[in-house]
Amino acid sequence: MDRIHPDIPALKNCVLAFCINAKKQTENVLIGELQEIRQAAKGLDPASTIIDIERPIGSFVIDCCHQIAPVTMNQLNDLYKSDNLCFKFFALRIWQEYMSYQGSEKHPCIKNQDTASAPFLNGFIQNLTLLVHLSLESIIQKGQSVLSDSPLDYFDNTLLNGSAKLFYNNKNGVQEYIVADADLMPVVLYSLRYLYGNHQYFQRCKICNRLFLAHTANIPTLCSDECRRTQRRLNKRKYDSIKKDIWYEKDYKNSYMYWYNKLGKLKKTGAVNYQSFEKAFHIFCMDARAKKRAVKNGGLSALSFNDWMITQKTKADQLVSQILEEQSRSIGSKSNRPAEQ
Ligand SMILES: [Zn+2]
Repeated sequence: MDRIHPDIPALKNCVLAFCINAKKQTENVLIGELQEIRQAAKGLDPASTIIDIERPIGSFVIDCCHQIAPVTMNQLNDLYKSDNLCFKFFALRIWQEYMSYQGSEKHPCIKNQDTASAPFLNGFIQNLTLLVHLSLESIIQKGQSVLSDSPLDYFDNTLLNGSAKLFYNNKNGVQEYIVADADLMPVVLYSLRYLYGNHQYFQRCKICNRLFLAHTANIPTLCSDECRRTQRRLNKRKYDSIKKDIWYEKDYKNSYMYWYNKLGKLKKTGAVNYQSFEKAFHIFCMDARAKKRAVKNGGLSALSFNDWMITQKTKADQLVSQILEEQSRSIGSKSNRPAEQ
């Protein structure tokens, strides 16, 4: 395998620091060398950190809920370019690890060899990225559905056995930062503990499918005013279409029964030529079904369908009187004929 040259800064001690601003309901994520992050957190030289970003609260947990396929060295550039801060951190940490082993005296066996596929690096990548292979979202949702007051009680020790550091500074009041150098789970737990204490829970919006923070765990809600407007539009469309379905199905059924009963009466009265009515009834059924399909597909309005059905009822009436008239005429002409000798 060729040596890889991803376009990623090589760091010596890359960490991710995370703090919550309760007043603003935001969270701050910094990624870079620990010493530079501490300087940036104090408000000094933020340019030397790779990431220093303030986002709405819950954003980092949402980043960690994105699942990806097992990470390989060839994906580092894509991970680093992603807006997902969790992926960005993975890329930086894997690259740091790779560079620290590349040509290392401690590992002469891998010197100038296929470091990218060496077992120690694969093991490191697997442990680092475990979070995004765990289906964190379903673990969170399950916890929230079981015990909505303290969903973290659902998390077992395999999820809790990571560790992280804290540091503090006083910029505008004392701020607490949690710092992870490999395992991001403690940062997720730190954020979840704050959110649950504040009665905020993760839900997936059933309109736009976005993961967002809601104030209830188990009552489905929508993420934004825009999605609420879309939901109202969809509800109205559904209501109208049900109403339309009921109307045209009823129209069809009524007209069908009208023709069917007329045919029954013709047969009962012993009409000789009821077959011509039967034939017209058959044509009516075929036309009506085609038009019903058109209403369903939106090619014909329910109102036009209703108008057509009324004309068909008149047609049935006319046919019946025509048949009965012809019949009485033929009986009359037979009775007027002189009896054969
Ligand atoms: Zn939405």
